[in-house]
Amino acid sequence: MEQLIFNYSSKGNIGVSLPAKPVDDDVVKKYVPESLLRKTELNLPEVSEPEVVRHYTNLSTMNHHVDKGFYPLGSCTMKYNPKINDKIAGMNGFADLHPLQPENSVQGALELMYDLEKMLCALTGMRAATLQPAAGSHGELTGVMIVKKYHESKGEKRKYILVPDSAHGTNPSSAYSANFKTIALRSNEKGCIDIDDLKEKMSNEVAGLMITNPNTLGLFEEEVERIVEIVHQYDGIVYMDGANLNALLGITSPGDLGFDITHINFHKTFSAPHGGGGPGGGSIAVVEKLVKYLPVPRVIKTEKGFHLSSDFPDTIGKVLGYYGNFGVMVRAYVYIVMLGVRGVTEVSKNAILNANYLRVKLADKFAIPYNRKCMHEFVASGENHRELGIKTLDIAKRLLDFGLHAPTVYFPLIVKEAIMIEPTETESKQTLDKFVAAMEQIDREAHENPEVLHSAPHKTPVRRLDELKANKELNVCWGK
Ligand SMILES: *Cc1c(COP(=O)(O)O)cnc(C)c1O
Repeated sequence: MEQLIFNYSSKGNIGVSLPAKPVDDDVVKKYVPESLLRKTELNLPEVSEPEVVRHYTNLSTMNHHVDKGFYPLGSCTMKYNPKINDKIAGMNGFADLHPLQPENSVQGALELMYDLEKMLCALTGMRAATLQPAAGSHGELTGVMIVKKYHESKGEKRKYILVPDSAHGTNPSSAYSANFKTIALRSNEKGCIDIDDLKEKMSNEVAGLMITNPNTLGLFEEEVERIVEIVHQYDGIVYMDGANLNALLGITSPGDLGFDITHINFHKTFSAPHGGGGPGGGSIAVVEKLVKYLPVPRVIKTEKGFHLSSDFPDTIGKVLGYYGNFGVMVRAYVYIVMLGVRGVTEVSKNAILNANYLRVKLADKFAIPYNRKCMHEFVASGENHRELGIKTLDIAKRLLDFGLHAPTVYFPLIVKEAIMIEPTETESKQTLDKFVAAMEQIDREAHENPEVLHSAPHKTPVRRLDELKANKELNVCWGK
C-alpha cells in the first residue's frame, strides 16, 4: 500500500541541490516585514529523488485510468488519448503562449483555431462554430443563451424548452440556468421520442427542443427529421446534444439532420483527456441564422492575417476568460488531422461495431431492455440479477477486481438497474472479450456465490466505501 510521502521521510535525505544560502539574511530582513517571517522550520518530508518519483508513480496507478485498463463508462467516451496530441500541445510555440500577446506573434495559434472551426463545421454540417465553452454542459448553456437571444431579437419572450425523459441531466439544467422552464417529453416503447407527445407539447411558447442523438440509450432517434420539422413549424430552435458525435462522424451530421445548434465534446469525441475536472472543450456549431449571436472574440481571416474580432454587435458576449482552453483545441486539431476524413469515419464505424459486439455477447446473461442495433453504446440492466439479491452496484464493484472500470450505472433513469456500456473504438477484440469473460464470471457468481459480489471489490486499494460519505469527507490519509 502506498503511504503518505511524510511516512518515507528520513532526516538528511534530499533530492534537490540548492545554493547553501540563496539570499543573505540582511536582504531578507530589509525586504520582508518581520510579521511575515517564519518562526519555525517548515514541515517538509526529507526524501531522495527516486523516493519522490516512485511515490508518485505508485500513486498514479492506484486509481483506474484509461492508460491502465478498459474504461467502458457509458456516455463519457473514455477513449484512449493518443500521446501525439500531448506532444504537440506541449511544443513551446503552443504551451508558452500568453493570452495577451500581440496578435502578430500568435498567428500560428490563431490559424489553428480558425482551421479547427472550419473542420468542426465540416463534421457537423454547420455554418460557424465557437471554441470558447469549456465543457459539453457549458456549450449547452451557450447554446440556450443563443436560443434566448434569437427569440428576443424577434421581440418574443418564449418560456419553455422541451427535453425528453431520456435526456442527459445537463440538458434540463442548462435550460434552467438560462432561465427557461423545461417540459419533459415521453419516450415510446422503442426508446425514442413519442411524436404525439411532442405534437401536443410544442407551441409558440416553446423556444426550442434539446435532444441527445444518439440518445442516452445508445439508439439513433429514428424519426429525427420529423421531430425537427415539427419544432421548426413553430420557429423553435432544435438543439442536438452532440456529446456523442463519435457515433456519427463522417456518416451523417447534425446539419444534415436539420438541427440548428450542436455541441461537441473535445474530451470525448476528439480524444482530449477528461482531466479530472480540468480543462475541457465544449465547442458549439450553429446554422447561418444563429452565427451573429456566437460568443466573441472570433478568429477571422483578413488580408493582414488572422485577427481576433469582437465586432459582432448581436453576440451573446463572452462565456469564458480569453478564448477558451487552447491546449485542448490543439489536441482536438491534431486528432482530426492525424485521422483525416476517412479516419474519423472509421472511428465512428468501429465505435458502433464494438458496442454491438458487446451487446450481442452479453445478451445471453444480462437483460437488455431495448435490444436492437445500437450506436456507440447500449444499456444493459441488472434487473434479472436483482431477483437473486444482486444489485447493479455489486456488479459494478466486482468488475474493479478484474482491473476493469465499471460501466455507468443507474443512468439513464428510464432503465431499471441500468448498466450503460460504451467500449469506444480504441479497444481491441481481445480487450472486449476480457470484459465479456468478467461479466460472465460475475453472472456465475450471482448464482453460486453471491457473497463475493456483496463484499466486492476485494483487490482495490480501498474496499467498498460509503459513497456519499466518501464524496463529502475526502480522506486520503489512510497511510497514517
Ligand atoms: C458528457 C455529456 C454531456 C456533458 O458534457 P460535459 O463536458 O461533461 O459537461 C452532455 N450530454 C451528454 C449526452 C453527455 O454524454
